[in-house]
Amino acid sequence: MSKVLDEVLRANTSYATSFGAKSKLPMPPARRFAILTCMDARLDPSKFAGLAEGDAHVIRNAGGRASDDAIRSLVISYKLLGTQEWFVVHHTDCGMETFTDDVMRSLLAKSLKTASLGSFGWTDSGTGTGSMEGDHIAWLTIRDQAASVLEDVRRIRSHPLVPGDIAIYGYIYDVRSGKLMEVAAASEAGKARSGDFSLREPPRLVA
Ligand SMILES: [Zn+2]
Repeated sequence: MSKVLDEVLRANTSYATSFGAKSKLPMPPARRFAILTCMDARLDPSKFAGLAEGDAHVIRNAGGRASDDAIRSLVISYKLLGTQEWFVVHHTDCGMETFTDDVMRSLLAKSLKTASLGSFGWTDSGTGTGSMEGDHIAWLTIRDQAASVLEDVRRIRSHPLVPGDIAIYGYIYDVRSGKLMEVAAASEAGKARSGDFSLREPPRLVA
């Protein structure tokens, strides 16, 4: 068995031993909010936002971008499971700032193996065949964190499947301090248009 597989299964055995009352949790998130954020391993939303099991939806992808699939999840989060406030959280030192669509497509065309990042950008140590399929994916890279948070909050806010009374907040997580920094323009763009949530302060994201 691989070391990681063994570790994960052991950790899970231990976790399940003290599962207790969590077995009774209902499906809808108790605190009625969702976080869209990056998959970066340094970010742990349950810790930086103080979540327990059952509290909130966490939707993650590379960059925490408002991709069609992220929006699919958010719409389900609201429409079927009742969340009413959404956070878009990008972060400092995001890997999505280190390449462009062209770079990624070129790397994949040369090889599918893991590339490496040096002082001159990404290079492919690659062997084996590559694929042109990367040309058909929008990689949703990031040039500027505040701009990407604003762009994504605006995209969600203006999406025809997203009702106006959901409040959307825009933040950047600082990987050096663990702090969430608001992108004021994004939170402004994400303000609920009507209903009770327009006047409400964002829930405290303190662990
Ligand atoms: Zn990231």
